[in-house]
Amino acid sequence: MDVASGGQMLPRRHVLVANGRVTAVSASPIQAPSGALTVDGPGVLAQGFVDTHVHGRRGFDVMRPGEVEPLSLDLLSQGVTGFLPTIVAAPPNELAAALSAASGDPRGARVLGVHAEGPFLSPDQPGMFPPDAFHDYDRALWRDMQNAAASPICLMTVAAERLTRAQVENLRADGVTLSLGHTDASYEEALAAFDAGVTRGTHAYNAMRGFHHRDPGAVGALLDRGDIDAELILDGLHVACAPARILAATRTTGRIVLVSDSVPPAGCPPGDYPWAGRRLRVDSDSIRLPTGRLAGSALTLDAAVRRAARWLDASPAAALHMASEAPRASIGLDPGGLRAGVAADLVLLDPHLHPRMTLVAGVVRWRRMRPKHCANAPSGAD
Ligand SMILES: [Zn+2]
Repeated sequence: MDVASGGQMLPRRHVLVANGRVTAVSASPIQAPSGALTVDGPGVLAQGFVDTHVHGRRGFDVMRPGEVEPLSLDLLSQGVTGFLPTIVAAPPNELAAALSAASGDPRGARVLGVHAEGPFLSPDQPGMFPPDAFHDYDRALWRDMQNAAASPICLMTVAAERLTRAQVENLRADGVTLSLGHTDASYEEALAAFDAGVTRGTHAYNAMRGFHHRDPGAVGALLDRGDIDAELILDGLHVACAPARILAATRTTGRIVLVSDSVPPAGCPPGDYPWAGRRLRVDSDSIRLPTGRLAGSALTLDAAVRRAARWLDASPAAALHMASEAPRASIGLDPGGLRAGVAADLVLLDPHLHPRMTLVAGVVRWRRMRPKHCANAPSGAD
């Protein structure tokens, strides 16, 4: 079994897990003491994927009570071991109810905190959301959100033009990682936000002012600042191959964070479904508003990894890094790679990067029951 760690592939390793943690990663066989588990291949072992932007899937909506639990179980089959339930801008009472629902200690992937996608966003870049719930930064509203949240809000998407430098600094002092998104910020405004403490970009290219050679916009700022973590929805629809490759080329330190941005109707049969005050139409490969605008994705994180390997010409280890270690690092969690001492939140994948087994805290919580491909199926198909 090979081990993916730090964007590199370590061939033929033996991994030992005990008490919820990885206790050894060794090139030679290890005798497992009693109570320890040896994780073995064939395939590739990586730190479990972390989805920092997921609203729901298969009808489960993180903003409704009791639905984080079934979503957490569903995410295991993607190799996801941790996630940030992502809530969207809504009227204050609905926002408070959603923040109290988006939590728990579920039996599937771990809840690592909450991602608040708003409400301090630009009405000029609403994406699919109705902009009437967007606001300028409001400290009282922020305090109400914190008080309502059952899991800490550890990540917030903000529009640079909705906050002053001091307000960005105050949010950072509250321990929140800030991500630039749903923004019509100019290049200069975006750079000022990065200088003030915004360290991330939300779904790069989508719902932000695009690139023009005389008006580089927020996209230009992301391309110019390779030290900023950039979310990418690699479903083949939200971003075309060339801009995805251009973004990756600006990030020599691996600051591409694959996200699903999946919405509750993802994985449901074709039809119309209500969500976030809109009617979403699910067809064979996309989720759209009746106007045709994309409305969140149906992407799974493991499919994003496989597309990253193909589109970005990334090695398997580099593609896995974008879904496991880069998302962790982007929200301030240990980015040190798969080594002794880290939590045994792991995914074992086959050579085509389809998950075979997912462990959380050293316990196998999901296992693929049947081979995904028969022997003569085209390899790399997705
Ligand atoms: Zn979203």
